[in-house]
Amino acid sequence: MRIVKFPHPTLRHKSKPLLRVDGEIADIVHGMFDLMYENNGIGLAANQVDLPYRLFILNLHSDPEEKEAEFVFINPEISERKGMVEREEGCLSFPELYAPVRRPEKVVMTAYNLAGQEIRYQMDGLFARAAQHELDHLDGVLFVDRLTPTARLEVKSALGDFERAFYGDRDRGLIPADASVAARLAELERLRT
Ligand code: ZN
Repeated sequence: MRIVKFPHPTLRHKSKPLLRVDGEIADIVHGMFDLMYENNGIGLAANQVDLPYRLFILNLHSDPEEKEAEFVFINPEISERKGMVEREEGCLSFPELYAPVRRPEKVVMTAYNLAGQEIRYQMDGLFARAAQHELDHLDGVLFVDRLTPTARLEVKSALGDFERAFYGDRDRGLIPADASVAARLAELERLRT
């Protein structure tokens, strides 16, 4: 398992809900936590590890010792949104890029956990922001899609750098062609959604 970077096509994949939570999903989630901590992240979505599953994880302290701060969101949905606030965001699929994003300040989100229980979260602050950022990933939406025109202009050259690095890696055969990425996602999805 590894983190894919912009503009990897899996980051644009809109995931369908998982039909069940089982041991294989638990193993994937544990692998995702390890990767997230290695990269000092606070959140990671399945798309970012090249998987078409509707799940993401959070630990706002990015500390593997703080198990009580670990959250797993499976098939998440937002039922309420309140307020609007702009804050700087980053993303493990865009290393070292930060930009201001406007999002609802408070949300109510429901999701299943690894035990298969449905939980209702009333979120605000960084918790609400990070969860909305990760939920966007499951719909193939990236934080750079939500920038103001001015902020968008400011990240333009950085996005160009990411694109050149990605296409360079793909030309060298380090990343499969789009068609084979899509075929693999479709096969995984067929088995689980
Ligand atoms: Zn992200």
